Amino acid sequence: DEPVVIIGAGQAGTLTAEALRAGGHAGPITLLGEEPHAPYHRPPLSKAWLAGEIGEAQLMLRAPEMLAKKGITLRTGTRALAIDRAARQVRLEDGSVLPYAGLVLATGAAPRTLALPGADAPNVLPLRSRDDASRIAVALARCAEAQWPVVVIGGGFIGLEVAATARKKGLQVTVLEAAPRLLGRVLAPMLSDWFAELHRGKGVELELQARIECIETEGGEAVAVRLTDGRRLPCGLVVLGVGVSANDALARAAGLACEQGIVVDACARTADPRIVAAGDCTARRLADGSLLRLESVHNATEQSKSAAAALLGQERPFTATPWFWSDQYERKLQMAGLSSGAEAWALRGELGGAAFSVFHYRAGRLIAVDSVNDAKMHLLARKLLDAGVSPAPEQAADAGFDLTGLLA
Ligand code: FAD
Repeated sequence: DEPVVIIGAGQAGTLTAEALRAGGHAGPITLLGEEPHAPYHRPPLSKAWLAGEIGEAQLMLRAPEMLAKKGITLRTGTRALAIDRAARQVRLEDGSVLPYAGLVLATGAAPRTLALPGADAPNVLPLRSRDDASRIAVALARCAEAQWPVVVIGGGFIGLEVAATARKKGLQVTVLEAAPRLLGRVLAPMLSDWFAELHRGKGVELELQARIECIETEGGEAVAVRLTDGRRLPCGLVVLGVGVSANDALARAAGLACEQGIVVDACARTADPRIVAAGDCTARRLADGSLLRLESVHNATEQSKSAAAALLGQERPFTATPWFWSDQYERKLQMAGLSSGAEAWALRGELGGAAFSVFHYRAGRLIAVDSVNDAKMHLLARKLLDAGVSPAPEQAADAGFDLTGLLA
């Protein structure tokens, strides 16, 4: 019946709280969230929520009443300031302390900023929280009215989703990406090129290998982005999509190992047996000693189950194949597995067709599959990867070959 304190009321924190209750923890569970909102889904913030296609109810992850019913005390607007591991307590912003027998760190990640002149202007906005999304929505409406273009810095998933949403609203959009291709660290070159064409076909001005000199301001507001080649892109809003860093300051200050995030094992445990961590704030130590940082709903969900199990004295390693998705225009990209280090690819279906998938190979083995509007293939890919089944590239590329048969 000992108290568990969870810092961070996002995907990972909320699901850990529920998994603890479901797993039989009978003591108090306190879920601390610094944001003023009850737990909500983050993915729609750049997609359906920003587009105004879904409302409050669909954004909500768990209603406070639902959590209360499970005996989970949600404290929104409450920031944890420090962890005292010797005394086993968490100090809150208001000076009070909360004792714990088990502590869950689920603090998420914070958007990176740019060290550029003008990047601190009020219409240069990152997108991480619901409040960020509201600010961007207001700024988009203002741009639509005044016919000001939007510049998105960063051609990653969030930047491209915001670009797609802004185009859907009829805004003029430029995406600036520093790398030579879009999503180069995760996608096969053919898919990067296809995404570039998709956005250009929808009217986005896309600049690869873009070099930004500064953001020009007038009266404190950003009015243009200047490139190092001298070009000036006028704008009414700059959206920053340049990645995130793990929120690991509390863990660091408490002496826990942090390297790209709070270091945990496959069971979401830190080196302190009373402290577990889950979600975007973590970096998972793999069997070969390397660290894996994932920022996805699936990762947060799996690690929450492991974290709750660990506090209940059980070992539940996270071994499932990671997956992720992204919605851009009428296309849904679904990715299974980890594609880093891929050296060969097989295309199933026609690039740009109604549904197609790209299979990634490393050292002759299947390591990941990216599917576009091909949900069936995505689900099958997860099964193949979970089972360690590697179809030959010729089989993957042959749409007539029954891959399901390989699972039998
Ligand atoms: P978060 O959801 O960030 O929750 C952490 C919470 O902890 C935050 O509310 C934070 O305010 C709070 N916190 C931090 N420090 C403290 C403190 N000291 N005291 C109290 N509270 C604190 N993933 C996908 O798989 N597919 C997608 O399509 C997708 N789209 C996305 C689109 C956007 C715009 C964003 C921002 C993310 C998207 N993601 C997507 C990523 C996914 O949302 C995250 O991986 C997931 O939310 C991680 O959950 P988390 O609980 O670890 O972190």
